Amino acid sequence: MGSSSNGGAMSGRAPGTVGGVKSSPPPVDKEVDYANYFCTYSFLYHQKDMLSDRVRMDAYYNAVFENKHHFVGKTVLDVGTGSGILAIWSAQAGARKVYAVEATTMADHARALVKANGLEDIVEVIQGSVEDISLPEKVDVIISEWMGYFLLRESMFDSVISARDRWLKPTGVMYPSHARMWLAPIKSTLSDRKKNDLDGAMADWDNFSDEIKSYYGVDMSVLTKPFAQEQEKHYIQTAVWNDLNPLQVIGTPTLVKEMDCLTATVSEIEEVRSNVTSVINGHTTLCGFGGWFDVQFRGRKEDPAQQDIELTTAPSERHCTHWGQQVFIMSNPINVEEGDNLNLGLVMSRSKENHRLMEVELSCEIKEASGNPKESFKKTYFIE
Ligand code: SAH
Repeated sequence: MGSSSNGGAMSGRAPGTVGGVKSSPPPVDKEVDYANYFCTYSFLYHQKDMLSDRVRMDAYYNAVFENKHHFVGKTVLDVGTGSGILAIWSAQAGARKVYAVEATTMADHARALVKANGLEDIVEVIQGSVEDISLPEKVDVIISEWMGYFLLRESMFDSVISARDRWLKPTGVMYPSHARMWLAPIKSTLSDRKKNDLDGAMADWDNFSDEIKSYYGVDMSVLTKPFAQEQEKHYIQTAVWNDLNPLQVIGTPTLVKEMDCLTATVSEIEEVRSNVTSVINGHTTLCGFGGWFDVQFRGRKEDPAQQDIELTTAPSERHCTHWGQQVFIMSNPINVEEGDNLNLGLVMSRSKENHRLMEVELSCEIKEASGNPKESFKKTYFIE
């Protein structure tokens, strides 16, 4: 998961409004969702991207094979099996039966892979949305790789929750079992680059507008502001995929969300609100914020993992993942000092036009170590 960028394709749906009162969001249009989201997963090149992410692969591999006691003789549901890899590992670790559910035609490739690896008596590939399919029994384990950029983009965890509530035995275990989201102040040359890009786009608009006026006699200036807003959204407000170096993290990373996959609810992830503090290390320039996630494989309290495994997408010198980090840049970086305190507010919600994309409202109040207020800002970003 994570790199299924749909280029920001929007479904064109609008939130329901009845008599001026905001109603609940409209149901998801399945055809539009397929065109915007699922279709990318039906290509082997995209599955290959995920299968080539060593950090991701090693974490799931170790989680399964170092905790065989959760699999031997057990029933497993793989939500979104893709190429079938997690279902195959579950079977190789000793599962009695694995239901491998995949919404797209990738299910055909998964079936072929299962057969070619001699596991067709154990792994049953079912093509369909996990919300729609029916299983003949409840399962001991739900395994899934559902994480998107900054954990929640793609909103696939909703499907895992639905599968858990319908098909996991009361004693069952979730793989992964826990997930966390992190935010940290960063320095980055992206601020300058994106600001230059934006300035360049506006200079280009001014030339274009002058030319239209002189060649064709039409005054375009009324469109200058909307164009500026459009470009600001493109260059500044859209979170940038980045492979940050730990040295670019200039303050304490803060935990903005922690979740137990066994008990998490959709309403808990539809909107994530957090107020946290971070302390700046050293004299430097605050250029924005980096967001990332980690997940843990710890089993459940009554039936813990023998070996806890963690998959982290934190900035690292050595181990980049295909998720990278999401960078929310500031067009006007701020000089900060050792000990400056940042009060950070985050509200992450789903885009009204496409429930699989995210809007992140970030607010930040900076105080000097002495407590004197320094600067503050607030901006809405988009994870597309
Ligand atoms: N498990 C594979 C693929 C992960 S990508 C691996 O780890 O390599 C997520 C997969 O889940 C995609 O192939 C996508 O098509 C599928 N998927 C997402 N939502 C789904 C749903 N509601 N029902 C069935 N499959 C789903």
